[in-house]
Amino acid sequence: MSGRAFHGRQLLQWIFQRGVCDPEQMTDLPKALRTRLASHRRFSHLDWKHTHASDDGTRKFLFELNDGQLIETVSIPEGDRHTVCFSTQVGCAMACRFCASGLTGLARNLSSGEIVEQVLNVQRQSESRVTHLVAMGIGEPLANYDALVQAVRTLISPDGFGLGARRVTVSTVGLAGPIRRLADEKLSINLALSLHAPNDELRRELIPTARQPVAEILGAVRDYQNRTGREATLEYVQLPEVNDRPEHVRELSGLLRRWRCTVNVIPFNPVDEAPFRSPTPSEIIRFHRSLLAAGIKVKVRRRRGDSAAAACGQLRAVTMKTRKATARATEKSS
Ligand code: SAH
Repeated sequence: MSGRAFHGRQLLQWIFQRGVCDPEQMTDLPKALRTRLASHRRFSHLDWKHTHASDDGTRKFLFELNDGQLIETVSIPEGDRHTVCFSTQVGCAMACRFCASGLTGLARNLSSGEIVEQVLNVQRQSESRVTHLVAMGIGEPLANYDALVQAVRTLISPDGFGLGARRVTVSTVGLAGPIRRLADEKLSINLALSLHAPNDELRRELIPTARQPVAEILGAVRDYQNRTGREATLEYVQLPEVNDRPEHVRELSGLLRRWRCTVNVIPFNPVDEAPFRSPTPSEIIRFHRSLLAAGIKVKVRRRRGDSAAAACGQLRAVTMKTRKATARATEKSS
């Protein structure tokens, strides 16, 4: 191996195995190279600001980006699993009516470096090794396709973070074109589709930006499953009396007939601005049982991190616009 390739390897090991991003601390690199790296390369995209710990061990990290935007990343330890839920955009353009992440619209895409660094930073601040990754933080991952795919390649590369592809899940609001493109990448990662309604009319009420018909999106997900061999998950936020009635269960069972996939029910997590309530425990049990009785394979997602507002749908991007507005309001009131 040439000297340059050798130093390249050492550099990757410092960053991905030891989580060190400051060239000055990479003590086995020649001093001259360390100085050059420190002056020519911008190594850190993220500035850690704060960690909010929930009662159940879930932690929510707040990071400031180079341009002052703020994003959140969640660490979810559970037995011998340690899942990191990362963000892909500052804000979100999808405007799902039950989700806090889209309330301020989309400010910008994250770069692949900003995505990878969330994982590295959380790993650095954790005792246990990260075992699973989910693109379920702020933003629509497939609306930032190139950066997402590049980040995933780095995270699953043996020279990079080195996580098994099967331990990575991308959750999408359902963009049929990018789902088909993702199947072409041959990455073997898991796909989760946010279905949330069994028909186009109700789905458009809940996700006003969802213009593609359910049948077209499900067609793309089925293709993904057939071509990658990875079983897809369909996420379904339970909104009592809105999308969990007997007729919805019947429609869902019709849609999913002869299809091997799991429906992942997510009981609605409270978001102040959203016009919905959370299901009671007995409503969750009733919905679960009726889906099972209709022949649907179903799992109910356990709520994690809600005492730190870190549960599904509760993450918020603080964009420069909202930061300035908050600063103005504070100035006025003081
Ligand atoms: N943008 C991606 C990831 C979203 S977060 C997507 O749309 O799939 C992961 C899951 O949480 C999605 O299914 C999302 O729709 C759901 N979710 C959003 N807000 C929620 C809330 N308040 N309660 C429960 N689940 C929510």
